[in-house]
Amino acid sequence: MDKVKIRTRFAPSPTGRMHVGNLRTALYAFLIAKHEDGDFLLRIEDTDRERYVEGATQIIYNTLKNTGLIHDEGPDKDGGVGPYVQSERQAQGIYLKYAKQLIDKGEAYYCFCDKERLDDLRSKAEEAKETYRYDKHCLNLSKEEVEEKLAADVPYIIRQNNPTTGTTSFNDDIYGTITVDNSELDDMILIKSDGYPTYNFANVIDDHLMGITHVVRGNEYLSSSPKYNRLYDAFGWKVPTYVHCPLITNEEHQKLSKRSGHSSYEDLVEQGFLSEAIVNFVALLGWSPRSNEEIFNMDELIKEFDYRNINKSPAVFDMQKFKWMNGEY
Ligand code: GLU
Ligand code: ZN
Repeated sequence: MDKVKIRTRFAPSPTGRMHVGNLRTALYAFLIAKHEDGDFLLRIEDTDRERYVEGATQIIYNTLKNTGLIHDEGPDKDGGVGPYVQSERQAQGIYLKYAKQLIDKGEAYYCFCDKERLDDLRSKAEEAKETYRYDKHCLNLSKEEVEEKLAADVPYIIRQNNPTTGTTSFNDDIYGTITVDNSELDDMILIKSDGYPTYNFANVIDDHLMGITHVVRGNEYLSSSPKYNRLYDAFGWKVPTYVHCPLITNEEHQKLSKRSGHSSYEDLVEQGFLSEAIVNFVALLGWSPRSNEEIFNMDELIKEFDYRNINKSPAVFDMQKFKWMNGEY
């Protein structure tokens, strides 16, 4: 049998500058693909219009270009290969079509609850000190009731229909088997009232349609992955290999976030760090090469990178070491 070609993607939401955590995710996805002569895709996940930041897509695009993380395919754009853009795909009706398939299978349902009702549910959960879960109220609507509301243009969303008993497990290649109690799975929103898919839903649909074999992302997504897994199962699709990358902290062991500042690619360039040194440094944030070597160019990284050597424990962003490394370039 032919070996399956590895296909990875970087799927950023355009919400600002690209901080080192995002750059590391992109780099690892790129290296996993290139190590085996596979394809690396870029997909802009811009369906959350509230978080969208004008110009962020261009920043991401420039960062990837300047660091040599060039994607292999995508729609034609300005005479070149553009990234896949989810808002453009949404306009083609892709996500709604798949959400409706899930409704037909009983794996999703229309929800017409208004804001007041949902707020009420939320505050009741808060008072009882319980985690908020949607109460499946609209799952009990008859087919006729649903059709009536749709005909009357009552605003709706589409929710995933998750079980409330039993457990869901999936395998992550770094963290092993993760099992969650189904009572923890909320009926996640798939399509929002503005007709746009949530990033959770579009992400799964596109990973499947784009033939992604290895999903590489930050470990903050570990806890939502069981819900994604149920979507794959509901469609009868092959689940990709998951590679969740460890958290990055500062020297005080606090989570590095976009808000901590000075840790985006642009910030580092503005501080005088070289692109090659940034890439080299970021590669070592959570990955241990087999040799004691610490200075790698991109070709060497591609050759050496084995994602099975990605660590589980948080990586520390060590400015002193980084400065030293920059001096070696
Ligand atoms: N759009 C998500 C993000 O910004 C990506 C999640 C994923 O890679 O699956 O971070
Ligand atoms: Zn409802």
